[in-house]
Amino acid sequence: MGMFKAVRIDKAEKGTTVAITQFDEAELMDGDVTIRVEWSTVNYKDGLALTGKAPVVRRFPMIAGIDLAGTVETSSHPEWKPGDKVICNGWGMGETHLGAYAEKARVKGEWLVRLPEGLTTRDAMAIGTAGYTAMLSVLALEKHGLTPGDGPVVVTGAAGGVGSVAIALLSKLGYHVIASTGRISEQDYLKGLGAAEIIDRAELSGAAKPLAKERWAGGIDSVGSTTLANLLSMTRPRGAIAACGLAGGMDLPSSVAPFILRGISLLGIDSVMCPIALRRQAWTRLATDLDAGKLADITQEISLDGVVEAGARVLAGEVRGRIVVKIV
Ligand code: NDP
Repeated sequence: MGMFKAVRIDKAEKGTTVAITQFDEAELMDGDVTIRVEWSTVNYKDGLALTGKAPVVRRFPMIAGIDLAGTVETSSHPEWKPGDKVICNGWGMGETHLGAYAEKARVKGEWLVRLPEGLTTRDAMAIGTAGYTAMLSVLALEKHGLTPGDGPVVVTGAAGGVGSVAIALLSKLGYHVIASTGRISEQDYLKGLGAAEIIDRAELSGAAKPLAKERWAGGIDSVGSTTLANLLSMTRPRGAIAACGLAGGMDLPSSVAPFILRGISLLGIDSVMCPIALRRQAWTRLATDLDAGKLADITQEISLDGVVEAGARVLAGEVRGRIVVKIV
């Protein structure tokens, strides 16, 4: 058994501490597949765990990181053999199960998705949980029956990870995308991703009316709170909003008016415990529906040593798009 480099979170008298340290392979948790981690990423939830700003970590010591892509080293699971390229998102990694910011991870074989044809392990983590959540949101809107012909779609938290990928996906699928951002200075970036219109997020952040002027047929919301309430009140009859985030707050100060007077649907998106069949569908679609050039444009690369600082920047809303972490 060897030692490997990892970002370790420990409980302290007050809160938590975080350090880049050596971790003993013998301390890895149960699982039937051991993976050589090649790439990871920094999501909003990683920022919360690394800074200790929310009680994301529920086991100590913890290796942070909710997302990984790499190569199977050993496996006693029938589906996986050494050399297979795999992706693992969520399932409690970095929360209750030792996570991704490490040279090695041991997980359950049933958690893994095979790397789709056409994507590298780096691409998969440039997409990461944020991008895969954007795809789950698109799939939910499609299942609802939304099509580009129904009218515009709105994306909130537009310059963030979920938002950036959502814009790229929706515009490629032919939607007229309205991007809501607090960073109007990023309008060239957002237009480059495919946004047709940019609006200031302040327009959507005040108290929501029960019903307001109809502006879109659907949307993807990574902000929550009054922003989600406004989105609902401005959605056209029979439209749908996929709710996947809480960057602006966990509350939802809305009313039943959009639901009972306009037949609006609120579609909940959970990436963490998402069933494996839906994960596979999402990753397969990401390999075909996400423009590789746009993915490259939204991605910046850091090393494991830069993860802690990056986590704080994500929470401060200072990161545009996605961060990919080179592990080895
Ligand atoms: P990012 O930090 O990359 O993006 C969040 C964006 O939200 C920011 O870039 C900013 O966009 C906007 N924002 C931040 N603070 C506020 C605020 N106070 N009010 C309004 N807008 C704000 O995070 P991610 O894209 O990775 O994640 C977005 C959200 O989705 C998070 O809450 C995350 O926890 C959640 N999430 C949920 C998942 C699930 O399974 N349901 C999976 C993945 C993420 P701008 O500057 O353009 O205004």
